Amino acid sequence: MKRVLVTGGAGFVGSHLCERLLGEGNEVICMDNFFTGKKRKILHLLDNPYFELIRHDVTMPYFIEVDEIYNLACPASPVHYQYNPIKTIKTSVMGAINMLGLAKRVKAKILQASTSEVYGDPTVHPQSEDYWGHVNPIGIRSCYDEGKRCAESLFINYRAQNNVRIKIIRIFNTYGPRMEPDDGRVVSNFIVQALQNRDITIFGDGRQTRSFQYVTDLLEGMVRMMATDDDFTGPVNIGNPGEFTMLELASTIMELTGSRSKLIFLPLPADDPMQRQPDITLARERLDGWYPVVPLTEGLTKTIAYFDDLLSGK
Ligand code: NAD
Ligand code: UDP
Repeated sequence: MKRVLVTGGAGFVGSHLCERLLGEGNEVICMDNFFTGKKRKILHLLDNPYFELIRHDVTMPYFIEVDEIYNLACPASPVHYQYNPIKTIKTSVMGAINMLGLAKRVKAKILQASTSEVYGDPTVHPQSEDYWGHVNPIGIRSCYDEGKRCAESLFINYRAQNNVRIKIIRIFNTYGPRMEPDDGRVVSNFIVQALQNRDITIFGDGRQTRSFQYVTDLLEGMVRMMATDDDFTGPVNIGNPGEFTMLELASTIMELTGSRSKLIFLPLPADDPMQRQPDITLARERLDGWYPVVPLTEGLTKTIAYFDDLLSGK
């Protein structure tokens, strides 16, 4: 039995990860400051004697004996990460320093949840790991993008200087049950709007693209990455190469929900990337043939069922 620390464990991805790790017979410590996380997401785990919940902010040091650390603490939706940009940078940078310091001290393996945002508004398409990205260092997304880029640098340098066993994954847009209705990201916004027959808010002309990955595919990639040999650090892209425009996403969600919503067009936020698609060749090679198996309509159907229950108070 391994003892595993999950920072950001009460968030959307973190709560699924805690559940999966417990299911595989690990002892799990979930650390969260509940900024975007909710106790509701992990309530069903609290009775498990191998699950512990710690209210703690990752910007402050924390000492605990663990074998593995998944560092997920950081708000992921633009609305939330732009709410207090300085705090977002501190979370990524000081959080990485604190967790890497812990990993060094207790000789734990540590995985960083990095992001496709390190590629910024990419001029290379699809994005492979050797692309350095196109990020505006002073734009409204920079608190998140540059925080995550600095965290990658910290991980690589803790490995080079201190031999810490590190893993970096670059996660592409991921969705699924346990997202919050007010999360602000596109999939949850469109589903909630469609279910309530409210206007669907398309930012810009809706022709920008994203590649959407269902959460269970991400978890599989994450867990496989953690299990790789120490010589493989990544970064490695974890995402679904299926690429869609926001107009296509809206129309699929309207069809699946039978919604009477209308589309409205709002200004495109500054620095919003025009296109994004992961090249997953490296993940396939290094993660035992890993690839995403849940198609968009199947994942959306499950996510719609979750939001339908949540909104109707079931
Ligand atoms: P989320 O907002 O649901 O979860 C983030 C969690 O971190 C929340 O529980 C929040 O309360 C916690 N947190 C935030 N700041 C903290 C702090 N200072 N100390 C302790 N806890 C803190 O987002 P998510 O979608 O579950 O994302 C999880 C991780 O994956 C994030 O690091 C995010 O950057 C990364 N990621 C997610 C996606 C995606 O599409 N979901 C894409 C790329 C990267
Ligand atoms: N978006 C949109 N309507 C919304 C929310 C987002 O059209 O209500 C767009 C947003 O401008 C972006 C895309 O959807 O082009 C994905 O946005 P999200 O915040 O989900 O992810 P990110 O931009 O961080 O990839």
